[in-house]
Amino acid sequence: QTNHVDENAPAATALGYKHDASKVDSKKYPAYAAGKNCANCMLFQGKTGDAWANCAALGGKQVNTKGWCMAWAKKA
Ligand code: SF4
Repeated sequence: QTNHVDENAPAATALGYKHDASKVDSKKYPAYAAGKNCANCMLFQGKTGDAWANCAALGGKQVNTKGWCMAWAKKA
């Protein structure tokens, strides 16, 4: 059983979330740039090495370390 976020759920589509950041529509989301991903986002709640972990922006659902959404903010 998993608690992975559904890419097609309204909360995810509203933020342009993709499990695979390379699938992000960079025309629609110009804030996206290669190298930005959940693993280096301050809202990612996992530990280094976790493949999936909760994200504060997506209601406590798990996101993929290789994902991205428009709420991305650089981890301090
Ligand atoms: Fe990933 Fe950060 Fe967006 Fe959460 S807020 S889905 S950790 S990029």
